[in-house]
Amino acid sequence: MGNDLFSVQNSPLTAEQAEILNRLISALSTEQLTWVSGYLAGFNAAASSTASAAQLAIATTSVDATQAITILFGSQTGNAEKLGEKLHQQLSKAGFAPSLQSMGSYKSRQLKRENYLFIIVSTHGEGDPPDNAEVFYEFLHSKKAPKLEGLQFSVLALGDSSYEHFCKTGRDFDICLDTLGGRRFFERVDCDVDYDDVAEAWVTGIVEALAKEFSSSATVISGARVLDQAESAHYSRKNPFPASLLENLKITGRGSSKDVRHIELSIEGSSLSFEPGDSLGIVPSNCPELVAEFIDAVKLDSKSVISDAKGETQTLENALFHDYEITTITRPFLEKYAALTESKELSKLLEEENRAQLRDFLYGREIIDVIYGYPLLGITAGQLVGLLRKLPPRLYSIASSYKASADEVHLTVAVVRYQSHERLRKGVATTFLAERVPEDEAVPIYVDSNKNFRLPKDPNTPIIMVGPGTGVAPFRAFLEEREVTEAYGKNWLFFGDRCFHTDFLYQQEWLDYRKNGLLTRIDVAFSRDGAKKTYVQHRMLENSRELYAWLEEGAYFYVCGDAERMAPDVHETLLTIVEKEGGVSRDKAIEYMRDLQQGRRYQRDVY
Ligand code: NDP
Repeated sequence: MGNDLFSVQNSPLTAEQAEILNRLISALSTEQLTWVSGYLAGFNAAASSTASAAQLAIATTSVDATQAITILFGSQTGNAEKLGEKLHQQLSKAGFAPSLQSMGSYKSRQLKRENYLFIIVSTHGEGDPPDNAEVFYEFLHSKKAPKLEGLQFSVLALGDSSYEHFCKTGRDFDICLDTLGGRRFFERVDCDVDYDDVAEAWVTGIVEALAKEFSSSATVISGARVLDQAESAHYSRKNPFPASLLENLKITGRGSSKDVRHIELSIEGSSLSFEPGDSLGIVPSNCPELVAEFIDAVKLDSKSVISDAKGETQTLENALFHDYEITTITRPFLEKYAALTESKELSKLLEEENRAQLRDFLYGREIIDVIYGYPLLGITAGQLVGLLRKLPPRLYSIASSYKASADEVHLTVAVVRYQSHERLRKGVATTFLAERVPEDEAVPIYVDSNKNFRLPKDPNTPIIMVGPGTGVAPFRAFLEEREVTEAYGKNWLFFGDRCFHTDFLYQQEWLDYRKNGLLTRIDVAFSRDGAKKTYVQHRMLENSRELYAWLEEGAYFYVCGDAERMAPDVHETLLTIVEKEGGVSRDKAIEYMRDLQQGRRYQRDVY
């Protein structure tokens, strides 16, 4: 190592501090350096916490630094990554030297050398891994996967229990590592959308178990404290900011089959900030008419008092209005409900071989339909809420740039209303925003950062954005940001929607950008204007030569919107374009796309 490791000119340190640091660094081994960097990261993250100096003091442990501890996250929206950072911070503070890595950049040949592996991974769509976990997932399930007899592991699976393949990716990793010979160091935990408490327990459990394993005198700060420390510094899921509603404007025209709103919220005085690509969490409340009907259907008194695990009390009406999900049917709900009502019909539907029938049954139904169809008699208010999961916040891609308007945050929201089983159904958060918040009233919000959906660092890099429907939202933020930061890279937008006359969201803004040159190209596809459906991917194909040329120039490719049909179709089209214009085989085109993905040049925000 050179003598001038840390130059005073480019650091905030005094000459004396820099010298001490340089002396220390040159005396450290690689393992000690890794530990120190982890410790400092943890120390920094906890700096705003209430932890005492004693708790933050360097633990003198008997930890064996040669033991490789790796935390791998597979993250689409950033939640798994954040939990990985928390585990990393906790382990570092306890005296270990963990390494934290995205599955996307993990070298799988390293796997054989791991001693402890902690996996945090989410599940998407039809049970799929997140984009940055795909390659590692396939490797582990392939013949190339090594025997892992020396490995100890644990998996934290993130998911949503209203989906059929709840936490499938995490479960698959768990089974696979076990099959390859690994030993479960700590039982897998499956987290639903309100994952905080369960995830906290997993983080704490792992740190404690490792400390015990190494009979370390390390200081273990409870997971609950870690999460609180990280969250107390700013507004969060648990502590949202009350943002006043400035604008609620319908941006689809008269006669449109959709009701899409442009929403503007004030974040003045909140010190909240965000990057293009981030999402906004909305903490909604339920529709009061549905709450009243719900209580009526189970023949309970709305003023019945219920208490939670901490002993805090509130009325049933208030709890159902603010705290519990009363629409979406989840499997755990149905299992508990079937047991309480002793319904043979519901129990039969829940049997493994009846998955298809269950899917049919759930289609278009909500909890209220189950209550009417299979009445619950003599239930208490406490039992009722015991059946329900917490009302999860909803995330919306932010449609504005903080640098362009720091006091506001904008969203593009398609209001969900539809008829099914002879009832009008309403999306909880979309109708909350569109119908139930009077202007100037507060909407509880927090920023959910998404490091996996980011503009290129180099302002001259060209970008291609594919965003049909409300999927266009983050690209409005991208363009505002590029305009205000005077980033001169080329910008190409593919937008699609139903009808040109009524559904061309933000039409004037795109045209203005086109005129002033910020938008280099815009290609649009309106699916219901002609006899034949035209989608964004058809426009991509029509412009395949130029699109491929942009990619070859180093363009980043972004997709936002529907994960079920649009995103796979766009992916398939991109493969075709690479095959055709690159003159390569399908296998080579797949490799090309993987390289794009690994180089963070192919990013998706889809659900
Ligand atoms: P729509 O459902 O109205 O769809 C927009 C356009 O896409 C329509 O023209 C539609 O055509 C078309 N379309 C349908 N199928 C495909 C396909 N396979 N490939 C390409 N285009 C297709 O848009 P919304 O704005 O209501 O919602 C868009 C979706 O994006 C929703 O599922 C929403 O949840 C999701 N979304 C996700 C976001 C995120 O992940 N951050 C952000 C915003 C939205 P037609 O209906 O005529 O067939």
